[in-house]
Amino acid sequence: AKASGGRARVEVYDEALGPDEVDQLQLETELRHAIDSGELRLFYQPIVSLADSSLLGYEALIRWQHPTRGLLAPGAFLSAAEDNRLTSRLGAWVLHQACGDAAGWDHHLRVHVNISARHLAEPGFGDLVSDALERSGLPADRLELEITESTALFAAESTLRAVSEVTERGVTLALDDFGTGYSAITALHRLPIHTVKIDRSFVADVVTEPATAALVQGLLHLGQGMGLQVIAEGIEDKAQADWLREHGCAMAQGYAFGRPAPLSRGSRGHRVLGVPSH
Ligand code: C2E
Ligand code: MG
Ligand code: MG
Ligand code: MG
Repeated sequence: AKASGGRARVEVYDEALGPDEVDQLQLETELRHAIDSGELRLFYQPIVSLADSSLLGYEALIRWQHPTRGLLAPGAFLSAAEDNRLTSRLGAWVLHQACGDAAGWDHHLRVHVNISARHLAEPGFGDLVSDALERSGLPADRLELEITESTALFAAESTLRAVSEVTERGVTLALDDFGTGYSAITALHRLPIHTVKIDRSFVADVVTEPATAALVQGLLHLGQGMGLQVIAEGIEDKAQADWLREHGCAMAQGYAFGRPAPLSRGSRGHRVLGVPSH
């Protein structure tokens, strides 16, 4: 009975899942394996001061060096990390890796780590952050966690608890993709946000579309009025950088300043290559 039950289950799956879903399931299985077999990588993208292009820190961006599919960006596989255990394992790997890497950088450089909504709401998230800081020796004030507006919108009790646990330690929070969610104002009101990152969809049109320019000015105003740090994401050219600098944006990230790149191991510990002097 056991064997036929197992077979029946397999048949149901075969009928129920289209090619895309099978692909997602397969990816999920492979992703579990990828964490243990060392196929995940962190790339780092510089965050700079718009005043003088000086380096302030890096954002960690996950990549998967897949054995047959090649180097995968998060858009290709993060959605396969559907269940909570996998989300947590992946998030833990990223946090430990990023804190370990950053501990070897110059002491003024900060590291930004993207956190998924589901992981933040998991019990034990605060302990994970403490553990990653302790093991790496990275001072808490050099770690910034990036959350999206949707995370904040659905801020559960457990999320709020985790947020106060980590911010009490000195870790700071950035609101990512600022302006794209429905809850920007609520999020800023409810959570101890330190930085807002203006989404690159706005930056892309800021020079050419007056309406977008007005919107970005509004976001800058709001951020500054609340005493927040503001980072413009996705700056690709000088005109965008100039516009944002002239309108009072202090910090930036984008291909114009450096693409996400892997760390290279130098003789004096970890070093990041590929930061243009601009
Ligand atoms: P994000 O946190 O908003 O990261 C910025 C994304 O914009 C990155 O894409 C980056 O490569 C890209 N980008 C940066 N500058 C430019 C530019 O000038 N032009 C253009 N066109 N793109 C630019 P990426 O690496 O594919 O990551 C996509 C998203 O995946 C991230 O968006 C973040 O939400 C998520 N993500 C990345 N790494 C992690 C991670 O370790 N954990 C979690 N939970 N999510 C991650
Ligand atoms: Mg981010
Ligand atoms: Mg973003
Ligand atoms: Mg984004």
